[in-house]
Amino acid sequence: MAIRTASWVFLGFLFATAASAAERPATPPSAADSFPVATAARLGGDESQTRFVMDFTRKIDLRVFTLADPYRVVVDIPQVAFQLPPKTGESGRGLIKAFRFGLVMQGGSRIVFDLTKPARIEKAFVVDATDGAPARLVLDFVLSDRESFLRRSAAEAVAGRAGLPQANSGVARGGDPRPLVVLDPGHGGLDTGTKGPHGEEEKDIVLDFAQRLRERIEKAGKYRVLMTRTDDTFVPLADRVRMARDAGAALFVSIHADSLPHGEGDARGASIYTLSETATDSEAARLAEKENRADVIAGVDLKSEPDDVAGILIDLAERETKSYSVQFAHKLAGEMKGVTRLHKTPLKSAGFRVLRAPDVPSVLVELGYVSNREDLHSLLSDSWRNHTAEAMAQAIDSYLGSHAVGARAGTN
Ligand SMILES: [Zn+2]
Repeated sequence: MAIRTASWVFLGFLFATAASAAERPATPPSAADSFPVATAARLGGDESQTRFVMDFTRKIDLRVFTLADPYRVVVDIPQVAFQLPPKTGESGRGLIKAFRFGLVMQGGSRIVFDLTKPARIEKAFVVDATDGAPARLVLDFVLSDRESFLRRSAAEAVAGRAGLPQANSGVARGGDPRPLVVLDPGHGGLDTGTKGPHGEEEKDIVLDFAQRLRERIEKAGKYRVLMTRTDDTFVPLADRVRMARDAGAALFVSIHADSLPHGEGDARGASIYTLSETATDSEAARLAEKENRADVIAGVDLKSEPDDVAGILIDLAERETKSYSVQFAHKLAGEMKGVTRLHKTPLKSAGFRVLRAPDVPSVLVELGYVSNREDLHSLLSDSWRNHTAEAMAQAIDSYLGSHAVGARAGTN
């Protein structure tokens, strides 16, 4: 039996090739059965020592690192098909509060563990399949303390952990002078976003919606469209902003769906958010905090993200961008109210990380509430999606048509 034991630090680059966006295959493999399949996962032990085991149809490589505040352990593995029972990972045991898993990019999957206490990984290895038994990924968590946890985490960072790959903006700068609209379907991969009562996932609803919107804009032919994701992969919030900035976008539209926790009222209708340092109300603040958690959920180290826009927040250009964003938000509300129900206060603002491009007018649309029965019905309906996408395409055309925004296209 071949066992791969790898100590904490040396796990570093077993998986380095997949961490490079430049090496993403042009046509990602699509046949799910070409990937190893995760078939089961289980936890054992207690609050001093906890073991995690996941079964695979064949052996895989792995890379492990830790993140603090909240305490997390992140395991990067090659792309696998997760065929696990529903609710797997939602509850934990011992040192593991919960865990999530999913695609982070084409070619790469990730498992993120939320810890109850600081812990170190004593062992991380993959056992080959032997007759009858599947290949197994085994992680042993041992109780540690905050200081050692932070020290190890820092050592990993020094050892050159790259985190997620830089977003590939993938923009053809081939002299196409048409203004560029960046559509940003929220969440993706192991960050599912909010969930409906029967497991409907925000990440799927908003991706389908954004694709319909893209088709409409492209069919009219006046604007180019770039999507921050076109499949079920995770994209960090800062990369979404970076894509729009690098590509010289004229407009950035982030698309989401909201939900209220059970028992906290029954809000419904679409809302359109712009960026502000202070939220318009507590609900807007709650929502921004929830949407900003995407990076934490997917195991992105926020401290490693250069906050390159924080310093320019009061810049003139930014003020102008903000006023454009608000104008566009008004146009969106105007077009959308003809086809769908709007929230009772549809125009709001809060500190959404994804709206922080200082030079790209940006809005975040919450299409509706998956926690509301009528809204969910709409969100899942073909005709509602088509009509609402049509209305948004109208608003985009009306906004871009009324501004000399084309000047930004083709710059850089
Ligand atoms: Zn969302």
